[in-house]
Amino acid sequence: MASALTEKLSRLVKEMRGQARITEGNVADMLREVRMALLEADVALPVVRDFVARVKEKALGQEVMGSLSPGQALVGIVNRELAATMGQGVSDINLAAQPPAVILMAGLQGAGKTTTTAKLAKLLIEKRKKKVLTVSGDVYRPAAIEQLKTVTKQAGAEWFPSTPEQKPADIARAALDYARKHYFDVLLVDTAGRLAIDEALMREIKDLHAILNPVETLFVVDAMQGQDAVNTAKAFSDALPLTGIVLTKTDGDSRGGAALSVRHITGAPIKFAGTSEKIDGLEVFDAERHAGRVLGMGDIVALVEQVTAGVDMAAAQKLAAKVKSGETFDLNDFLAQIQQMKQMGGLSSLMDKLPTQMAAKAGQMDMDKAERDIRRKEGIIHSMTPLERRKPDLIKATRKRRIAAGAGVQVQEVNRMLNEFGQMQDMMKKMKGGGMMKMLKRMGG
Ligand code: GDP
Repeated sequence: MASALTEKLSRLVKEMRGQARITEGNVADMLREVRMALLEADVALPVVRDFVARVKEKALGQEVMGSLSPGQALVGIVNRELAATMGQGVSDINLAAQPPAVILMAGLQGAGKTTTTAKLAKLLIEKRKKKVLTVSGDVYRPAAIEQLKTVTKQAGAEWFPSTPEQKPADIARAALDYARKHYFDVLLVDTAGRLAIDEALMREIKDLHAILNPVETLFVVDAMQGQDAVNTAKAFSDALPLTGIVLTKTDGDSRGGAALSVRHITGAPIKFAGTSEKIDGLEVFDAERHAGRVLGMGDIVALVEQVTAGVDMAAAQKLAAKVKSGETFDLNDFLAQIQQMKQMGGLSSLMDKLPTQMAAKAGQMDMDKAERDIRRKEGIIHSMTPLERRKPDLIKATRKRRIAAGAGVQVQEVNRMLNEFGQMQDMMKKMKGGGMMKMLKRMGG
């Protein structure tokens, strides 16, 4: 499905090329595709509608820069807007409180609360040099208390014991008291989750919030949760003043659209992303990277930027003019093209920027080999005389041997390069005017 989408988008991008402005007419199709992409990424429908409308408003009438097409420019805007929306208000974890700074973890069962509590403990110990205590208020599942004990040990933090016989409120008071008396900087409170939202659960966590007065109330949500994320987020955000979101399981294969929905519904910033089951699998949320993933179109914008920045446009235009005027495409031009490829940051770096589907296909090629090949071709052309470069037809057996020896390659390699050059020359003739520019633009799409 993603592959079909990518292809469709690339086609639309191509169709729109050559138009200078983003208008209602030329982006309607593209907006429909963006909408589809977001829905496929499991962003909730109302959020998608709102977002697409906002993007459209921002995009209409915008000038399209340089060699970009309106389609590419729009993808750029969508990408930036996604990142801005998800990254807005991002701040580090707040510990500005009379110690202990209390962090309350909220979310459904299985979202990753317990795991994240330990990950956060480790991060605060290692990066912020804090003394950290954890406690579990999940009196419904003895296993959950044990689980927290185990992972807290792994994190190198201290665990405050609790039992299923206690009331969550009493556990909270006792842990807070202990943390104060023993000069802990941070108290992390793991809470009970249910499989679905329920009244009693919400009341309980509200009580805990009142007792603990946390400086951070983090809503932990599974990135794979999809459309349901909206309802869960709404329920928790109605019950609690959320200060941040932790998006877990971003290492899964979902496109992580929940991030956008949850950000939209709660208004709270996404502070961290869970990246593995391991204790160190927690990272500060990277909105730009996540935007690329939600959109599922790779970093087309970066690709285009890289292409236009790296290519010597003046040289390309000169070449285009030359071809147009009927002058022959010679080995000097071929060399110039090879060098432009190199300027674009190397093939492998270019491949990194392609949408996943395209990159997967490209991944079957050996990039190192391709780059070595470019260098070898350069070497061969450098071993030729200026006359040979202008008139490749002169290059017969004796010259070939000399060139091969000069470049340190076999004669067959010289032949192969000349063949390739011959094909390129034919192509240039067919494309007549603007061939080079067309080719470069095609690469940008
Ligand atoms: P809780 O019920 O909310 O406390 O959830 P748990 O912390 O017990 O996590 C539920 C499952 O999700 C466990 O198997 C965790 O190992 C797993 N998990 C949590 N966070 C991540 C993550 O970021 N990546 C992956 N791959 N698994 C995670």
